[in-house]
Amino acid sequence: MSKETDINKVVRQHLEMEQFFTGFSLKREGKKSELSRGPRDGPPARQDDASIAEKAAELEKIAEEVRQCRQCSLGSSRTNAVPGEGHPNTRILFVGEAPGADEDAQGRPFVGRAGRLLDKVIEACGLKRSDVFIANILKCRPPENRDPRPEEIISCLPYLQRQIEIIDPEIIVALGAHAARTLLNTNKAIGQIRGQFHEYYAGLGRPPIKVMVTYHTAYLLRNYSPENRRKVWEDMKKVLAELGLPVP
Ligand code: URA
Repeated sequence: MSKETDINKVVRQHLEMEQFFTGFSLKREGKKSELSRGPRDGPPARQDDASIAEKAAELEKIAEEVRQCRQCSLGSSRTNAVPGEGHPNTRILFVGEAPGADEDAQGRPFVGRAGRLLDKVIEACGLKRSDVFIANILKCRPPENRDPRPEEIISCLPYLQRQIEIIDPEIIVALGAHAARTLLNTNKAIGQIRGQFHEYYAGLGRPPIKVMVTYHTAYLLRNYSPENRRKVWEDMKKVLAELGLPVP
């Protein structure tokens, strides 16, 4: 295959991928999003505006700590730390691996190409990005986007653990092997754990939080195939069904 045909194929595949998820979101446009917890979803202690504001304030405190953090060497190589963002009272938390170049430049999670695909996946579910919370295992970009190192994960993980405790989501969607292995404390291959619910323990006496493992959107972009995108969509449909939300 010539180089030009190769490039055309890649471009076409990416367009198809974008349209696959866009198609679903168009069908559901105008539907009210149901993902952030409203008054009917939980006990009074955590549903009123005051407690949501309290959660937002606690999350902002963590974000400020993250912005000041110098606990590992990534603290000096980053441009901006990326604490995470979203609805403080959401029922669903997405966890990725680590910021890339775009995220490092903006200080916001999932704003590059993988982020745009994640937005499409969220919209395909009939939801908005502002309804969910998006965070990463590492809060700073590893140079050249290399894999996170164990010592970086160990020093950074407490920030995510505190975010999970505060948000207290019903479901965590682990995007990719690094997020899944860290949250589930396993070395299993992603193929073995993807597409199933697992459990994350946020603390003694607290019920486990369900974790759905799916492919990272960056992996989807690199490994385009109808089979892979179908798998991610099947995983997300399980999440919606578990939350009692309409499955497109
Ligand atoms: N990939 C990630 O894992 N996280 C981001 O924030 C962006 C890309």
